[in-house]
Amino acid sequence: MKIPKDHPRAESLSVREKLLEHYKMGVVAHAGLIAHGRGEAFDYLLGEKTTKSALEAIKAAAAALLTAKHPVISVNGNAAALVADDIVKLSGVTGARIEVNLFHRSVEREKAIERVLKDAGATKVLGIGENASARIQEIGSERRRVDPNGILIADAVLVPLEDGDRTEALVRMGKKVIAIDLNPLSRTAQLATVTIVDDIVRAMPTLAKIAEGLKTEDQEKLKDIASEFDNKRNLGDAIDLIKQRLTELAEKGTYISLLEMSRI
Ligand code: ATP
Repeated sequence: MKIPKDHPRAESLSVREKLLEHYKMGVVAHAGLIAHGRGEAFDYLLGEKTTKSALEAIKAAAAALLTAKHPVISVNGNAAALVADDIVKLSGVTGARIEVNLFHRSVEREKAIERVLKDAGATKVLGIGENASARIQEIGSERRRVDPNGILIADAVLVPLEDGDRTEALVRMGKKVIAIDLNPLSRTAQLATVTIVDDIVRAMPTLAKIAEGLKTEDQEKLKDIASEFDNKRNLGDAIDLIKQRLTELAEKGTYISLLEMSRI
């Protein structure tokens, strides 16, 4: 579908279009379309822009990835459809390996995702088919199958668009989990070590750029940035922002004025 450029929601519609295209290519699962809708709803409430607290979380996430021994970026269908280029860039900057890990797993879908990542410039993609030969007992779903050279040995895992169960299991295994999730109330957001409450479409390129800027910093300084980050407080800020926006909306009685405010 051709989206008119001057449509007030052109950006959001083109993201939906991209997801549908990748759904037809077998990259995105049907459940991925539903998950996106939940994310969009929270993006409305947050003002559809990267907030100050999200930027703080992005900085802590970059520091955590740059100080990890075995950082891994875990990729699902939505992430590959929306930000494959940025995943490859972030992997290049931080040395993080890229691993496909799916809830709705099939070898066909894994290969379709691998194709998208390789077209974006990835040279190696872990977790495809029999390569996901290790098992994480703590996880109940198909996501327990992981690559022995990737998530199994990772000390920091970036999990854009995650489910709560796996986040909990990875944290219990002693790994640092960095989540990107627009819903500050989700189990993933609450359980992760660092949660970036932002749209993956905005957060991933920003994360790659900030990581590039921090790459030459002293390791001790980066460790301090990562360890000083307080996820509970940061999530509290996101929830507070939603509360403030809703209070102002209730007072003003119009959503349009709130949208305009968010663009100031
Ligand atoms: P949990 O198990 O963590 O409580 P959930 O059941 O909501 O979460 P899923 O159904 O897997 O988990 O949904 C994935 C999450 O991804 C949702 O919380 C949604 O807000 C978020 N999400 C979807 N699309 C985006 C996006 N483009 N950017 C950031 N977050 C997104």
